[in-house]
Amino acid sequence: MDGKIIKKCRLCNNKKLDRIINFGKIPLGNNLLSQKKLSKKAKKYPLILNNCKSCNHFQLNYSVNPKILYAKNYTYLSGTGKSMVIHLKKYADEIIKKINLKKNNIILDIGSNDGTCLLNFQKRKMTVLGIDPATKPCKVAKSKGIDSINNFFDKKTVRKVERLHGKVDFITSHNTLAHVDNLKSIFKNIHYILKYNGHFCFEVGYFKKVLNNNYFDTIYHEHLDYHHANPLVNFLTSIGFSIVDISVVKIQGGSLRILCKKDDKKNISKKALLFLKKEKRTVIFDKKFIMRWEKNIKAIMLDTRKKIIKKISNHKIFGYGSPTKIILFLKMLNLPRNKVKYIFEDNKLKQNKYLPIYGNKIVCTSEIKKLKPKFILIFAWNFKDDIKKKVYKINNKINLMVPLPKFKVI
Ligand SMILES: [Zn+2]
Repeated sequence: MDGKIIKKCRLCNNKKLDRIINFGKIPLGNNLLSQKKLSKKAKKYPLILNNCKSCNHFQLNYSVNPKILYAKNYTYLSGTGKSMVIHLKKYADEIIKKINLKKNNIILDIGSNDGTCLLNFQKRKMTVLGIDPATKPCKVAKSKGIDSINNFFDKKTVRKVERLHGKVDFITSHNTLAHVDNLKSIFKNIHYILKYNGHFCFEVGYFKKVLNNNYFDTIYHEHLDYHHANPLVNFLTSIGFSIVDISVVKIQGGSLRILCKKDDKKNISKKALLFLKKEKRTVIFDKKFIMRWEKNIKAIMLDTRKKIIKKISNHKIFGYGSPTKIILFLKMLNLPRNKVKYIFEDNKLKQNKYLPIYGNKIVCTSEIKKLKPKFILIFAWNFKDDIKKKVYKINNKINLMVPLPKFKVI
């Protein structure tokens, strides 16, 4: 099966869901193809964002089969982004101190990727175990000596963990819980496998930041859930967690960090209560703004399109970066097909492949010398500063354009 339509809220089961944005059908951003011919035939899936009328949770209305999404095509490695490595080290230092983790404690990471986070706990002589369905990152983790289970965090995996270690002291998870279709069962599995008084801390992209900055292109099939604190806390307390802390951290354009404890008291700390109250006064609960968002985005993209065409005139444009979000961005930008030439890319696993449907070839960054682009549009706009440095080292006369949060030439 390729996927399924979701008719009930992933958190509260309510059937009343408001449609916020319908992007139509688009191909999977990670499905890069080896031939141009094949790229044209790439399968497309619906991309529609819904909002639950009862708990306000934002979510996609269609789940692509996770086996199609992750098992083979997932090539992202946490260890390649310097800022992520630093972030996870700092995180481990903080959390170990805060909840007083000790030598020989058992630490579980859900969506452990290449083991970058767990390394920090292993260094302090704790017993670590990673769980991740993506094959390539899991292999990398094992090669670093991080014990990892290459599977989804389902009942079978939970039983395996229990057989190996019994109940665990601490569970951590970073940028994984936006990717989960059966959120409720994941949280219940986490609650089950934790020791009484054990802690669970997770980080997810904060949807408030997406709304405020119009980062609409971060909406794609891999991201099923678009989180904010209120619906999460309602659910977590309902299954027996207490909420110790809620905060926003800078990484990934703004992430939400929630720390909870399994004590079946369902307490919410004063600080967390204040966070929840404040969140209710922001854009995330502003129904009028939310219902206008689709219109806003369309207007912004129309304006961006005009600015780009005016700037490049008869020239062609090249791209930099082929992140998953490039597909939706190209669709919304809607430039004439032959206007966009090659896409430059640093990740070797993506080079010499073709974008699904659009068919643009992805080439190594060093090709800039040969292809002599006059204009480059940065699709990986969150890395614009690094990209600028790299391009300018080759040629500082190239016009670099950044599309979001506001179109500008840098
Ligand atoms: Zn709901």
